[in-house]
Amino acid sequence: MEATKLLYTNDSTIKEFDATVTRIGPKFVVLDQTAFYPEGGGQPTDTGKLIVDGKEVKVIKVMKRGDEVFHYLSDDVELDAKVHGVVDWDKRFQYMRLHSGEHLLTGLFEARGSGPKVFSSFSQLDFKPSEITEDTLSEVWKRFDEIIDKNVPVEIYNTNRDELDVGDDERKQSFLEKIPKDVHELRMVKIGDYAETFCMGTHVKSTGDIGKLKSLRLESKKKRRKIVYFELI
Ligand SMILES: [Zn+2]
Repeated sequence: MEATKLLYTNDSTIKEFDATVTRIGPKFVVLDQTAFYPEGGGQPTDTGKLIVDGKEVKVIKVMKRGDEVFHYLSDDVELDAKVHGVVDWDKRFQYMRLHSGEHLLTGLFEARGSGPKVFSSFSQLDFKPSEITEDTLSEVWKRFDEIIDKNVPVEIYNTNRDELDVGDDERKQSFLEKIPKDVHELRMVKIGDYAETFCMGTHVKSTGDIGKLKSLRLESKKKRRKIVYFELI
């Protein structure tokens, strides 16, 4: 078994790449390297195509199992075949914008004492217990748009697992527990002084790519759970 080299971890802007098929099965292949992001960490699977001997095969779904990345295809491909991968870029860029926006919003709310985040997606953030008010919301919206205008770089760096302090954030604690114990280097994502967390996902290069907020809405639930719904322009 050969580990798949994850091209997207060092450069999330790779749209096309060459690779060799290292394992096959009915309508799936494992590649020696890939720029396709596999489903995970709240980010959906990339799709796209593989070009093999001038023929196009659709990439329908991508999943990481252990160290290998499985590409589920519209057709069979032979072992050791040389392939050219093309990521559906419009879709991926949209995911990167929303996911990076999610990071920035989380950081801004946490800095204003939102309470721990218990869930998040491309359209909502749930905090519980939380005392977020409409005032917090308008403050965050204003700050968010200012940071977009400033085009702050989104930095990626590695840190030692033992040096990471997630405090009593249960969500982060459970994420950490799911990472195998032999993984000592964690990949961190930092947006200026506004947001910083470990994450394996794909992100835009700077906040200008995220774009401003179109809407930000607050809903109060039972047991002091607050849901923030967001949309980007
Ligand atoms: Zn991320």
